[in-house]
Amino acid sequence: MLNDIQEVLYSEEELQAKVAELGAQLSVEYADKNPLVICVLKGAFIFMSDLVQNITVPLELDFMAVSSYGSSTKSSGVVKILKDLDVPVEGRHVIIVEDIIDSGLTLSYLIDVLERRNALSIAVVALFDKPKRRTVDLEPDYKGFTIPDEFVVGYGLDYAEKYRNLPFVGILKPEIYSH
Ligand code: 5GP
Ligand code: MG
Ligand code: MG
Repeated sequence: MLNDIQEVLYSEEELQAKVAELGAQLSVEYADKNPLVICVLKGAFIFMSDLVQNITVPLELDFMAVSSYGSSTKSSGVVKILKDLDVPVEGRHVIIVEDIIDSGLTLSYLIDVLERRNALSIAVVALFDKPKRRTVDLEPDYKGFTIPDEFVVGYGLDYAEKYRNLPFVGILKPEIYSH
């Protein structure tokens, strides 16, 4: 698995430091709001887990799984809910935790859904942002790192369901994609 990595972009230490920073920020802004923190599966599961451990105020959490149809490295904008939330969002301060915003299509669909369910407020935390590839007008409220237009894996992020368990984030050797 490590053999497939061309370059490490963010080490475990760099990721942990950034996540601690985001957690501290959210702890201040969501004190007394009892936010509902929503993990967008599967890619955000490690980020979510580390992030909530760095939030020092009461919160609740839930999980949602969506699939955006398209190739394994590009989203089509057609989104399907594979697993919905267990709790209603009406009247709640919601924080959506995403691994990465690329075109922005997945998130804009999710925000739309949660708005229609009358969330009181909706904020987006994204570990990674690829602003160059955006096709809809969407900015994360909290962001970890801005990255160039390269396909990254690790720390929850996959290629063909692999590499999610790497503790760092890197880019794959080009020959991996041609298999
Ligand atoms: P969007 O709808 O913003 O185009 O796509 C968002 C989703 O596509 C992300 O949540 C993620 O699951 C996937 N994605 C986008 N860019 C990357 C990337 O560089 N690496 C991986 N592993 N997944 C990505
Ligand atoms: Mg995602
Ligand atoms: Mg994926």
